[in-house]
Amino acid sequence: MFKPSDDRDNPCKIADLSAKQIAWRALGLPSVTPNPVLKAEEKRTAGIEIAVTIVGGLVGWTLWSVLITQYTRPRFGILIDFVALSTCCFVVGMVFWYFLLNRIRRERFPRIAEIYLSAGKCPACAYKLDGLKPEQVGCGVCPECGAAWKHERIGPHPKP
Ligand SMILES: [Zn+2]
Repeated sequence: MFKPSDDRDNPCKIADLSAKQIAWRALGLPSVTPNPVLKAEEKRTAGIEIAVTIVGGLVGWTLWSVLITQYTRPRFGILIDFVALSTCCFVVGMVFWYFLLNRIRRERFPRIAEIYLSAGKCPACAYKLDGLKPEQVGCGVCPECGAAWKHERIGPHPKP
């Protein structure tokens, strides 16, 4: 599995999402996400997030069809069985998405780090890196988590 690391190749974590940010992500619509960093990040991962949710939905569909429909359909009718089946798909899909979200983000870390650094934030903890002193040659060290990032990567810069 891909391990995120800082610019000195020390392992680091990836900035956590708050509950509110996760709720925005759950909508699956980067266009409505208010936070620009999160919006840019979401655009990078939306495709795989949707794929994971669909796979989860199919698992939910299969489980319900194989294990549960035989009991619910005769008892409650086709319509209620279908509504319950759809709910099961949705819930299992979202569970898959939720538990794989951070793994997806870690896999995409190099790109996500770029987005955070361009916005002047530490990719490992989302702390603002404004006004860092060049403590050591080449890298600025995040005062919050100690991750080191090359000075030239911090702050807005033209995209390659
Ligand atoms: Zn940090």
